[in-house]
Amino acid sequence: MNEIKELTDLVLRFRDERNWAQFHNPKDLAISLVLEASELLEHFQWKNGDEVAHHIEAHKDRIGEELADVLYWVLLLSHDLDLDIIEAFKAKMEGNARKYPVDKARGRHEKYTELHGL
Ligand SMILES: [Mg+2]
Repeated sequence: MNEIKELTDLVLRFRDERNWAQFHNPKDLAISLVLEASELLEHFQWKNGDEVAHHIEAHKDRIGEELADVLYWVLLLSHDLDLDIIEAFKAKMEGNARKYPVDKARGRHEKYTELHGL
């Protein structure tokens, strides 16, 4: 069993034990995903470079919890949409590699449209 499947099964068991699927629809799952991503952002809001570094050092566990919350909703939404997130991720990475070829993008931060003169 791959680890994504294993984690998805954990998420589904958690939901099913609480009978929460009745409250779930793609819109609200997507909203939940963004809300958790926003909670991640709160760790960095209003902090400068040094403060960010110190905050990460002091609160890596809490940052990890927010990343886990994001992953929870990614896994659940992927499941409910019957979407293979592993295949979607691989396809996206292949697309990213085409958008950002190493010979053009290495060491540069411009968006792909800039790199390709689009
Ligand atoms: Mg959270």
